[in-house]
Amino acid sequence: MTNKEIENLVRPNIRVLLPYSTARDEYKGDIGVFLDANESPYDTGYNRYPDPHQKALKARLSEIKGIVPERIFVGNGSDEAIDLVFRVFCNPGVDNVVAIDPSYGMYRVCADINDIEVREVPLNEDFSLPVERLLSAADKNTKLIFICSPNNPTGNSFPASDIERLIRGFKGIVVLDEAYNDFSEEASFRARLDEFPNLVILQTLSKAYGMAALRLGLAYSSEYVIRLMSMVKYPYNINGSTQKIVLEMLDNDISQRVKTIVSERKAILQLLEGYSFVKKVYPSDSNFILVKVDDADRLYGFLLNDGIIVRNRTKATLCNNCLRITVGLPEENKKLIKSLSEYESKYEKGDFCR
Ligand SMILES: *Cc1c(COP(=O)(O)O)cnc(C)c1O
Repeated sequence: MTNKEIENLVRPNIRVLLPYSTARDEYKGDIGVFLDANESPYDTGYNRYPDPHQKALKARLSEIKGIVPERIFVGNGSDEAIDLVFRVFCNPGVDNVVAIDPSYGMYRVCADINDIEVREVPLNEDFSLPVERLLSAADKNTKLIFICSPNNPTGNSFPASDIERLIRGFKGIVVLDEAYNDFSEEASFRARLDEFPNLVILQTLSKAYGMAALRLGLAYSSEYVIRLMSMVKYPYNINGSTQKIVLEMLDNDISQRVKTIVSERKAILQLLEGYSFVKKVYPSDSNFILVKVDDADRLYGFLLNDGIIVRNRTKATLCNNCLRITVGLPEENKKLIKSLSEYESKYEKGDFCR
C-alpha cells in the first residue's frame, strides 16, 4: 500500500489534529531552573513530570528489539495501543473492524467503547487462520483486521505465509498481536516492517518479561502510524516510576525463564495427553495450554477446590469444554499435575457419575 492509501484510512479529525504541546517540549537540555510546568520545586523524587516521549526507554527497546525508536510506540499496556488504533483509524458509528474468534477479549471491548462494529470470523476447525474468510468479511468501511499469533486462548501460531497473505490482501491496517511471541518458535514480524506499511505489531512486557504490574505495551509500525498514535495518546501515558523501573529491569536476561516455561509446557502437555478425561490437547507455542476435557465446569471447580485457578473457556467459540492453563513455576505445575491425577482416579472409578 502507498503512503497516500494509508493516510486515507486515518480519521479526518486525526489527520489535522494539533497535539498537546508539553511544557518542556521546547527546551532540549536536562539541567536548568525549571519554572515552566507549575510543578512543585521540592524534590520528592516524583515532583517533575516524566518524559512524554519516553526517549531513554525507547532507545533501550530499540537496541533490544532492533527497531529504530521512531517505529516504536510505548503504551500503558497493549490495551492502550489497541484503543489507540481504534481512535486513530475508526470513525465511531461508521467504520467496522474484522477479528478472529476466539481471541483476546480486548479487541471487542475497545470496539464497543469506540462504537465500532466487530465482524468476528471463526478460526478454522483446526484453529488455522481463515485468510479468505477474513478478507471477504471486510468491506469499504473496514479499517482494521485483528489477529493474534500465538493466539490466545488457542495457543497456536499461524504460519508466516498465511499472515503475509492477509496483510497483502487487505487494503486496511492489520493489527498483529504478538503478546506471546517470546515463547514461540516463529520469528516476530517486527523485522519485516519495511515490507508491510499497513502492519501494526503489538508486543508486551506483561508476559515473558514479567512486568505485568508496570503496564508497558509496545507497538511497532511505520514512522507515520507511530507518529499518529503518539499524537493521540495522553501526553504522560507512561508514568515516571514505570519508565525508570522498566529501564532497569530490561537489563535482566529473561531467556532462562522462557526456556524453563517452554520445557515445563512440553512436559505438562505430554502428561495431559495420558489422562482419559482429556479429550484433546491443543499444540501450544505460548506459555499456556488449551485442553478439551470431559466437563470443563466440573474440572474447573475441582481444581479451584484445590486452590488452583485456571481459565474456563468453555463458552468461547470452538472451545466447548476447554480450559486454558497457564504454565507456572515447576513446583506449581507439580501441584496441578497432582490435582489432575486425583481427578483422573475419580473419573476412572466413575465417581462423578454417581
Ligand atoms: C496478555 C495479553 C496482552 C497483554 O496486554 P497488556 O495490556 O500489555 O498487559 C495482549 N494481547 C494478548 C492476546 C494477551 O493475551
